[in-house]
Amino acid sequence: MSDNQGSFSSLDPGNRILMGPGPSDMHPRVYQAMGAPLTGHLDPYFIKVMDETKTLLRYVFQTENKLTFPISATGSAGMETCICNLVEPGDEVLICISGVFGERMAEMVKRHGGQLNRLVSEPGQPISVKQLREALESCQPKLVGLVHAETSTGVLQPLEEIIEVIHEYNALVLVDTVASLGGTPVKVDDWNIDVCYTGSQKCLSAPPGLSPVTFNDRAVEMIAHRKVPVDSWYLDLTLINSYWNEDRIYHHTAPINLIYALREALILIHEEGIDEVQVRHNINYQAFAAGIDAMGLKFFVNEPHRAPTINPIIAPEGVEEASVRQALLENYGIELGGGLGLLKGKAWRIGLMGQSSKRDHVILCLTALEETLRLQGYDKINSGIAAASDVYQANI
Ligand SMILES: *Cc1c(COP(=O)(O)O)cnc(C)c1O
Repeated sequence: MSDNQGSFSSLDPGNRILMGPGPSDMHPRVYQAMGAPLTGHLDPYFIKVMDETKTLLRYVFQTENKLTFPISATGSAGMETCICNLVEPGDEVLICISGVFGERMAEMVKRHGGQLNRLVSEPGQPISVKQLREALESCQPKLVGLVHAETSTGVLQPLEEIIEVIHEYNALVLVDTVASLGGTPVKVDDWNIDVCYTGSQKCLSAPPGLSPVTFNDRAVEMIAHRKVPVDSWYLDLTLINSYWNEDRIYHHTAPINLIYALREALILIHEEGIDEVQVRHNINYQAFAAGIDAMGLKFFVNEPHRAPTINPIIAPEGVEEASVRQALLENYGIELGGGLGLLKGKAWRIGLMGQSSKRDHVILCLTALEETLRLQGYDKINSGIAAASDVYQANI
């Protein structure tokens, strides 16, 4: 409470440039959509909004899956929805771990009674096909979980070949695309991803609070044959599906305005085109990486395993990771992420996601880093701006 009881200033967080691991910037149209008048959660107008949101999600996930809709909670709830609906007590599950979010998935499998097998990659590396084959020879999982873009380390897990191998062993594939969908290709149907979830606030640039999921027929079938009820009422997919798809039976009060906002954010992606959106993310990543390299700074992950959407950069010797972030926030309004997991206190995590993946953001971020690092005694090797600018010139 403020000392001055009963008197509160009006809300004004100031302008932020969100370049951390999420949330990312929102387009003005998304703010506007969020403020549209509230309807009831079974209002015919809102039902139409729900149907359009599902169609747009299928476009972004590149799937025909009927069971495609947002869970009313953040990305972690999408993760838990997938785990708790697919895993029954005693079921064998293999989770591939390249960082904190793989660990989170593994923890959820344990809590929902699954028999957990862990496959951990080398730091800064994805899981290789060879490692996966070896793991699949020594257990019989019904489900294999993978994180596409591991936000804690910046590793991008190649998926296509690994999914084929998992299917050879007759397991279902679950992929976390919270930090990748909309920023780098994810083709649910072409790649035969059985189950996939994402988050609204990362590359989709909607407010946090929704977690779109998509389940193919094989996964729906597996749920239909469960022996025991799902051990969460709120995240029971069959119940949620009867609100989003079947009989429109009330399950919970949908967060109407968040869904308005997600719909608008997805329309923006549809207008630009999903392929074009990914090309934009890639060019901004290339320009940013050229700038970082020119300055003599180091990525935690080497090519070709970098997620273009989230970039852990090692803080150089003598530079204080946290005080650089604080200076960028105070002087430029730029939010970067700190290190998470094994990179805690050692790296910045710089996100180039959704509406934050922009040329002016990249140039401003490199400028702000150059200036701030200089004040901390780090002498850059070359200008990051010139190197980034060359990439943009080459891509006009
Ligand atoms: C952010 C993130 C999550 C968790 O999402 P929340 O919205 O914070 O619950 C899960 N997986 C990955 C890869 C993420 O980046």
